[in-house]
Amino acid sequence: MSITNIIRPLTSSLKRSTTILSTKFSTSIKDHDNDPVVDIDNPFSKEKVQCILCKTKIVPDYKNVQLLSQFQSPYTGRIYGRHITGLCKYQQEKVEKEIVKAQGAGLMPTYLKNPEFFKDPKLFDSEKPLRPHRFE
Ligand SMILES: [Zn+2]
Repeated sequence: MSITNIIRPLTSSLKRSTTILSTKFSTSIKDHDNDPVVDIDNPFSKEKVQCILCKTKIVPDYKNVQLLSQFQSPYTGRIYGRHITGLCKYQQEKVEKEIVKAQGAGLMPTYLKNPEFFKDPKLFDSEKPLRPHRFE
């Protein structure tokens, strides 16, 4: 028995298997091509959390006393903390800066909220802080 007689069936079977493989591969590519490409949003993406001023794109200004007074306690005139307002650090600092500026300009009272604005819609409930204080 010559060596080619042994090798030939082997190679022929190999060839067959590769052709099978290749046809399988080509059909799988075809299936893939037939899949409609649907552009969908990432279903796992989280909703972007934004503070009320960033969401509404309102820029606090010392002349907008009515807006600033909504960040003030009606009882003491104290500026609500970030745990109540839920503002981001940047906006909270800006609001506090503008309130101090307005108070310095005599536009806003320091130890009370202007009674004119008592009936304004409340943006926050100081009794129920968005982020509970760690000493409560
Ligand atoms: Zn913000």
